[in-house]
Order: sequence, then C-alpha cells, then structure tokens
Amino acid sequence: MARPRTLLTKWIKRFRLTDWNIRLRVVPFASLNTGSDGGSVKFGEAEWDPYERQAVITIADPATVPEDAPDLEELIVHELLHIVVNGHQLTNDDINFERVVRTLVPCLVRRGR
Ligand SMILES: [Zn+2]
Repeated sequence: MARPRTLLTKWIKRFRLTDWNIRLRVVPFASLNTGSDGGSVKFGEAEWDPYERQAVITIADPATVPEDAPDLEELIVHELLHIVVNGHQLTNDDINFERVVRTLVPCLVRRGR
C-alpha cells in the first residue's frame, strides 16, 4: 500500500501537520460502509484528538472501491483537511466544515499536480 502512504506524507508536509502523529488505516470499502447511519457512501474518515495531536485517517483500500470512487489523492487531502480546518476541536461532523473541505480539495489537488 505504498501510494496512500506516499500521498499522506506529501500532504502532511504541505499542510504543515508534521507536529501531529497521524496514522493511516487502509480497510476494505465494505467495512467502511457497514450498517446504515443514514449517510452517503463513505470512502474515508478522520478521527483526531486535539489534546494529543493524534489522528487516525481511515481510507477504503483502492483495490476494493467501486469505479466511481473519488480520486485517491483527493480522498487523502479531504481527510487531512478536516484536521487542518477543525483539528483544534474535538471530532464532530459539522456540516459547514464538511462543506469547506469539499470545496477546497479539488482546488488544492488539481492545482498542485
Ligand atoms: Zn469530510
């Protein structure tokens, strides 16, 4: 699973998150989408602890995602941006932060290529 880790390292540096301890978990797509929490299909998630500056980014294994899955780099940037945007707060699913993240990701990734 070299590519997700390489991308994570690249964007941790770019976002100046090197003072965080960020762990990457790569799991089967199906295990990210068990049960019905009423939401849309999930390709990744981020959880963090602002007191310890520790985070876990979970992404669906690219080998297991459907064809319409988001771009891997955009997915990783999306999850890291949650830490950039609201890593000073406890994890929540605030709609405004989600909207900010979704707006910024394509701007950042497509320009950075
Ligand atoms: Zn999000």
